[in-house]
Amino acid sequence: MTQKEAMTRQDDRTRRLTEALRDAGVRVTRQRAALLSVLARADDHPEAVELHRRAESELPGISLSTVYRTLSALESQGVIHRHQFEGAPARFEHAESAHHDHMIDVDSGEVIEFASERIEKLQAEIARELGYDIVHHRLELYVRRKGTGSDG
Ligand SMILES: [Zn+2]
Repeated sequence: MTQKEAMTRQDDRTRRLTEALRDAGVRVTRQRAALLSVLARADDHPEAVELHRRAESELPGISLSTVYRTLSALESQGVIHRHQFEGAPARFEHAESAHHDHMIDVDSGEVIEFASERIEKLQAEIARELGYDIVHHRLELYVRRKGTGSDG
C-alpha cells in the first residue's frame, strides 16, 4: 500500500468511526476525535489500555473509562470487533478487514492473522453434514514458537 492509499484508508476509517459514534448518540469531543484517529491508524489488535496510551500521547485528557465506553459504542455499531482471547484483556480491530482467524502466541501475546481456504471449506462441510449453515465463526489457535517450549 502506498502512503497515499494508507492516508485515504485512514480518512475513510476516521469518517466511518466518527459517523458510527454519532449514530450511537455519543458526542465527538476533541479527546474522542483523537482516539478515533489513533484507532484509524491501528493495523494491529490493540487493547483498550494501549489505545488509551496512544490517544493520550496525541491529546492528553481522555480517561480510560471514556476509551472503554467509546469502544463499546463503536462495537455496538458494528464498525470494530472485540476479541476476547484467553488470558488477555479484550483486543480490538476494524470490522472492515476481510475474514481471517487468529493465532495467539501464548508466550509473547502476539496476535497473528491467518486465513485458510481449506479450513473454511472443512468447517462448512462439517456444519452441512450436521444439517447447518455457518452464520459466523471465530477460530483461535493458541501457539508457541517451535523450539521455545519446555516440552518441545
Ligand atoms: Zn485480526
